[in-house]
Amino acid sequence: MLIIDAHLDLSMNAMEWNRDLRLPVAEINAREQGLTDKPDRGKATVSLPELRKGNVAVVVATQIARYVAPHNRLPGWHSPQQAWAQTQGQVSWYKAMEDEGEMTAITDLASLEKHLALWNDGTPNDSKPVGYILNLEGADSLVTLDHVERAYNYGLRAIGPAHYGPGRYAQGTDATGFMGKVGQDLLKEMERLNIILDATHLCDDSFWEAMDHYNGPVWASHNLCRALVNHNRQFSDEQIRELINRDAVIGGALDAWMMVPNWVRGQSTPEGMNCNLEVLVDHLDHICQLAGNADHIGIGTDLDGAFGREQSPYDLETIADLQTVPNLLRKRGYTETDVEKIMHGNWLRFLRRAWK
Ligand SMILES: [Zn+2]
Repeated sequence: MLIIDAHLDLSMNAMEWNRDLRLPVAEINAREQGLTDKPDRGKATVSLPELRKGNVAVVVATQIARYVAPHNRLPGWHSPQQAWAQTQGQVSWYKAMEDEGEMTAITDLASLEKHLALWNDGTPNDSKPVGYILNLEGADSLVTLDHVERAYNYGLRAIGPAHYGPGRYAQGTDATGFMGKVGQDLLKEMERLNIILDATHLCDDSFWEAMDHYNGPVWASHNLCRALVNHNRQFSDEQIRELINRDAVIGGALDAWMMVPNWVRGQSTPEGMNCNLEVLVDHLDHICQLAGNADHIGIGTDLDGAFGREQSPYDLETIADLQTVPNLLRKRGYTETDVEKIMHGNWLRFLRRAWK
């Protein structure tokens, strides 16, 4: 089954974790044995060969760099200019992967359909490039609004205005407050360029303000449900209904603390908390029950998004194991048509409408 994963921090892994994603995951992990600088060392689940093995033809891949004001304790850059430079290094890495034939940029309908034809041609995937759509997770690095068009010109097609904490254009997870004039101006510029709004990570105030002011395409690349795990990072049923009304697609994430309640970072284990891929289906099914159909969910794993196997479903060794999800859906009673929609079809419908 063809899979689209709408959220992977590939360049962050390459540039900050120093992972050569051309290698098999086992090799990446072997080289990290003994490293203790990050909690997920030696526990990677994502690399380009694993994506091919899992028939993950298209990913939404991020640029990510936060600006932090002096009082802000989150990790991040001390000026927007430094954050911009960081994201430019990340773009450079994606372009280098293109040069190697490892990845290919998907920026419009023509490149999307050409790429799908290649992956559907019946030949093995071993040497096919992984298609990527560029998404900016947190807009802090856009030094001025003129930088939005500069970024569009090198391929940026989606922006999540916020990430964790307070942002320059919007307030994110664990923060509160509105986007204000500067955030609304960002939305206007995105609308002019037909850049997809990623609603993930917007705090409630900023989320509703964005819904009021943005008239372009909206998706949520990696989100789960507040009704199942109560945290502001998750969507309330009211927010999910709003996204359904806008024909959005919500990507189900595989970060264990969002999947099961009462997760304690660094202490809980996926086995101990009974966190497996079935739990993802619980969240996806909750959204389908609200929608009355399976048209608004997809996959947006966030795997290796600053966590590894220690904080991922225990029945997933690498991202290639996403291929077990279709059977879990079938066992829940989803039809073959619905399973295809969830694994890739809904993202494709969304993109074909957004880019027509
Ligand atoms: Zn995220």
